Amino acid sequence: MEILKNYINGKWADCNTTETSNVVNPATGEVIARVPAGKAAATEIEKAVAAAQAAYLQWKDVPVLKRIQPLFKLKQLLEENSAEIARLITMESGKTLAEASGEMQRAIENVEVAAGAPMLMQSEFLENIASGIDEYMVRQPLGVTACIAPFNFPAMISFWFLPYAIACGNSMIIKPSEKVPLTMVKIFELIDQLGLPDGLISMIHGGKDTVDAILDHPLIRSVSFVGSTPVARYIYARGTANGKRVQAQGGAKNPVVVLPDADIEMSSQIITDSVYGCAGQRCLAASVVITVDNNKQIRDALYASAQNRSVGYGLDKGVEMGPVISAESKTRIESLINKGITEGGSVLLDGRNAAIKSYEKGNFIRPTIIENLPVGGELLRTEIFGPVMSLLHMKTVEEAIAFINNGAYGNMACVFTSRGSSARKFRNQAMAGNIGINIGVAAPMAQFPFSGWKESFFGDLHGQGKHAVEFFTQTKVVIERWPKEWSRKF
Ligand code: NAD
Repeated sequence: MEILKNYINGKWADCNTTETSNVVNPATGEVIARVPAGKAAATEIEKAVAAAQAAYLQWKDVPVLKRIQPLFKLKQLLEENSAEIARLITMESGKTLAEASGEMQRAIENVEVAAGAPMLMQSEFLENIASGIDEYMVRQPLGVTACIAPFNFPAMISFWFLPYAIACGNSMIIKPSEKVPLTMVKIFELIDQLGLPDGLISMIHGGKDTVDAILDHPLIRSVSFVGSTPVARYIYARGTANGKRVQAQGGAKNPVVVLPDADIEMSSQIITDSVYGCAGQRCLAASVVITVDNNKQIRDALYASAQNRSVGYGLDKGVEMGPVISAESKTRIESLINKGITEGGSVLLDGRNAAIKSYEKGNFIRPTIIENLPVGGELLRTEIFGPVMSLLHMKTVEEAIAFINNGAYGNMACVFTSRGSSARKFRNQAMAGNIGINIGVAAPMAQFPFSGWKESFFGDLHGQGKHAVEFFTQTKVVIERWPKEWSRKF
């Protein structure tokens, strides 16, 4: 099987290594590609940076109105190829075709927002800040930037950064997740048609070694990372120690609170979609569901909705939930369920040992519900990243908010209620960067920052929207005086 190529200096290039890792279809267990790995693969970063630096020096002076023109073509190409890319996403990440198509839509919306760079990059001017002196601030690009992506959104996540980076005048090197590189390979076939300067956007495959080469390269000015919290913390520490600007989005353990006045049918449907969508492998998947003072009805409705979910290969019709990414991930999730039982939780719905006809080699786990885990126990603090709901029952909304605010993560918190005052209190007090009110996946649209607090984010500026424009530009302040006497001389 062919080893995937890098894309460097506007050309497809073989990687200087025979060391590879396998890309596996998580539903069938079939090896579908081999991707460069190891220390030799990481040395390719040097070539990509040299090309990216040369491209940046040319691109930064191209007027922003011209820089955004390729984005319109990119949007068109992504739309025309969306169905094919969605199939690749399903084949390598396991999510359903509908989920993969939704991901493509979110990627494209970021291209649309970044095309607003001529407005978004505008700055400030104050005439007469002192007598005869004007002061203003302009935004200039950083230089070579890098993006390191996780497996769970093979297309979308790079687009939280890429279109903004180039619209603002930077070049970018993308390192896709080694588990799901095929989606980006296809997207780079489209990028190749844009007529961009060679080297402006490159793709280098690999794992930790390639990441380290990015973190240590002096010409790489910024790193945009999305992945698990331990790696996000590492990326932030090493990248900033090397003087880079870093935004590092990490893991999550998202709570959802259902108040007694919530609409039971609607809430249970939305919550199960949130917990089990993408087999729970979303950083905005609901993970801990807390019912307040009304457990029977909502508990029954959640159980029914979870149990009815059809599990299988995401390319097959009618499938609502696919496998988890790898055999290791399946083992890890099932052992966390076991741990929950040891800690005193009871399994209301057991998805372990799932056997899916015709896909016996797939990494399937059916929807699982563990009830009454001890607050303060380890599992309620651990990101499971699989189709597992932890169901808790509490007496008051205050108790639920206190539980949320004691948690280490702060990616998302949601409340289901029909009372405005309860919703208002929740959104004001819950310590999370993305809040949902009668929403199960509070994913900010491209116009807003993809927020995240506490252990879910290291940095200052997030991906998407105005934050991305601020991240990919540095401000320059100019103080200017033109004495009248000088004009008379000429
Ligand atoms: P991961 O941290 O294992 O990998 C992410 C990237 O880091 C990959 O490109 C990988 O090659 C690289 N990497 C892995 N280990 C490394 C190491 N030790 N040193 C340097 N680089 C390393 O994450 P994943 O399993 O691909 O993705 C799932 C995680 O991402 C979950 O924790 C999920 O919550 C999180 N996530 C967060 C967000 C968000 O916006 N906060 C969005 C999506 C996913």
